[in-house]
Amino acid sequence: MPEGSHRFQVGSLSCTVLSDGYYAYPSEWFFPNADPDALAEAFEKRRQPPGSVLSPYSCLLIETGRRVVLVDTGAGRAACTTGAIVARLEIAGVRPADVDTVVLTHAHPDHIGGAVDSRGRPVFANAIHYIAECERDFWTASRRNLAGLQLPEQTRRELEDTAWFALQALRHHLEPVEREMEIVPGVRAIPAPGHTPGHLALLLESGGEQLLNLGDAAVHPLHLEHPEWENGFDLASDVAAVTRRKLLERAEAEQMHVMAFHFPFPSVGRVERRGAAWEWTPGW
Ligand SMILES: [Zn+2]
Repeated sequence: MPEGSHRFQVGSLSCTVLSDGYYAYPSEWFFPNADPDALAEAFEKRRQPPGSVLSPYSCLLIETGRRVVLVDTGAGRAACTTGAIVARLEIAGVRPADVDTVVLTHAHPDHIGGAVDSRGRPVFANAIHYIAECERDFWTASRRNLAGLQLPEQTRRELEDTAWFALQALRHHLEPVEREMEIVPGVRAIPAPGHTPGHLALLLESGGEQLLNLGDAAVHPLHLEHPEWENGFDLASDVAAVTRRKLLERAEAEQMHVMAFHFPFPSVGRVERRGAAWEWTPGW
């Protein structure tokens, strides 16, 4: 497979992680309450430059044999380093019109931005787009409280504007998810609030194998190593921390593979408890 895609099976489900690109964030957006010295040391250990986090955007294509499902759509043309998802799909043999199901883990721009083109038309025009009902309602309400975000005002406004634009454009294509439910056979959406009000995780199950897609319940392996470190993009840090721990405990207890949209490509691996923390081992 070409660079930027990684294929594996979950039982009978053919899965391909597809890179939409990446974006460099100021590290204090990802780790707002981390001690700067501890953070610098953690970056040095990983041989990463301090100051910014180069964060991958990893979407998941699931082909069941009957259904073609895309989990998250990337950022579209938000930056010159994003918006590769359509090309990656085509290299994998899938045209946008072939995608019949889109699952949006939440309505942040790096997940929903690729679902709509610059003229406001749905990119995956034949697809039902699943999103949590409360997520849709939150971003399309006339007012919302974003005080929990540890981000600059300008960034908050960009989150609001992109979500509103995309959800308006997709309004006739949306299927709201109210509670845990099976989206297609073998693929369940699980409410995982905190990052956003209606953030969803996804559990794939087939032939005795399981993959838990965390979405943005964790955005960097350092949030596993340092469970006390918050993510500035979490709207409710305390709720997000509980959700993160629950999902990780479930993954470990049931020996699941784990995927996380922003973890180093191809963003799949396993988790193991280490005292109060977690260890991330990449690979399928
Ligand atoms: Zn994200």
